[in-house]
Amino acid sequence: MHIPNRQSALEALQRFLPHAGENYASRRNFVSAPLVEANVSGLSPWVRTRLLQEWEIIEHVLHQHSASAASKFIDEVCWRTYWKGWLQLRPAVWEQYLAELNQARKVSFMDATYQAVLAGQSGIECVDQWTQELQQTGYLHNHVRMWYASIWIHTLKLPWVLGADLFMQYLLDGDPASNTLSWRWVAGLHTKGKTYLANPDNIQKYTQGRFEVKERLATEAVIPKSFPIQQPRSLPSLGPLPQKKSRVGVLLQEDDVRAFNWLVTNQDTAEIYIAGYFSPAVYSVNKIAPMVAQFRQESLQSVLQADHPLFNDVDSVSNWAVTKQLDAVLMAEVPTGMWDSKIQDLQSVVEAQGVKLSMQRCPWDAHFYPLAKAGFFRFKQGISAALHSVVSPS
Ligand SMILES: Cc1cc2nc3c(=O)[nH]c(=O)nc-3n(C[C@H](O)[C@H](O)[C@H](O)COP(=O)(O)OP(=O)(O)OC[C@H]3O[C@@H](n4cnc5c(N)ncnc54)[C@H](O)[C@@H]3O)c2cc1C
Repeated sequence: MHIPNRQSALEALQRFLPHAGENYASRRNFVSAPLVEANVSGLSPWVRTRLLQEWEIIEHVLHQHSASAASKFIDEVCWRTYWKGWLQLRPAVWEQYLAELNQARKVSFMDATYQAVLAGQSGIECVDQWTQELQQTGYLHNHVRMWYASIWIHTLKLPWVLGADLFMQYLLDGDPASNTLSWRWVAGLHTKGKTYLANPDNIQKYTQGRFEVKERLATEAVIPKSFPIQQPRSLPSLGPLPQKKSRVGVLLQEDDVRAFNWLVTNQDTAEIYIAGYFSPAVYSVNKIAPMVAQFRQESLQSVLQADHPLFNDVDSVSNWAVTKQLDAVLMAEVPTGMWDSKIQDLQSVVEAQGVKLSMQRCPWDAHFYPLAKAGFFRFKQGISAALHSVVSPS
């Protein structure tokens, strides 16, 4: 269904475009099996690696629909940015998730309910079907993700962090910000006084009768205990741009595989070399399914040309920087998440060779991240400004 290259991403976008207006607004909550692109786009795995960049999706949408007709779809595309900005401003929330996950993992092998859900034998037919769908396709519809997380937390009383981890292991679009924060929202940890409770009628209605849930689902939520939410910090300042006439290496990574488009504009450089960096070690430490690791690595590989190397470890990046006599390595900012410690390694190994590693924030993120200090409603007010400045009408 999802092929990790630009052409497949663009074809999927083209198929979806006619539906991005009123149709999306009225049909997006209906779940067809497996995925019907007339209801939702199914673009998320390509958005995850930015094989499709948010601003270009919106640009295409605005060629076929007015901003008001497509406002629901545009809002959803921006929700992803909101979550990313929110976590970038509060990285401790990710650290706390990892700490809770490590604790939960220590006892998870003894938890019969957890093991039964993983084996597709929870006894709740829709949950078992969705576990299988997740593990086989790497994709679940948004409404299914909400129901699944809700039943996991509130009905089966499983730790939310183990559910978030299961999603991270199998979702092709698995993203530390959207995933962790959505699970927290369903659990009741994100917005004070708000939890999400799945109910059988709603599941039956939006799956159009495919699932009739006979089991009793929780009607009251018990909000799990967790750490207090960190106050937003200032966004980290990024490295300076390389000096004029310097030799620059552009290191592409899985969060923005096409960052070349915006990273090197207006750079007056002597020479530019391009390479990719993907760390399989990060994936195995985090127990991510091979199909997900493969999707991400191939997405990156697909944008590299024959003479652009792809490195799997930091020493190889450092050797490349030395061999090419680079003055600086430019990278798209790596968002808070699985990569954190690896990036510190990369930075110290490269800089030990006298080469500056400089991360840059793309204009889209630079516009939106500071707006993620409060709720989505305030964030949303930045959308129309973005449509005029960051999204370039062609
Ligand atoms: C428990 C839970 C876990 C989730 N985990 C992830 C995750 O790991 N990665 C991820 O990208 N999304 C996640 N989401 C958000 C959402 O479910 C997916 O982005 C969406 O289902 C992707 O399918 P689509 O491309 O068909 O979406 P569409 O409805 O077609 O939306 C278009 C794009 O907008 C973005 N988007 C849409 N809805 C949301 C949303 N609610 N939050 C953030 N971005 C959104 C996605 O990039 C998506 O590709 C999660 C939601 C829940 C409830």
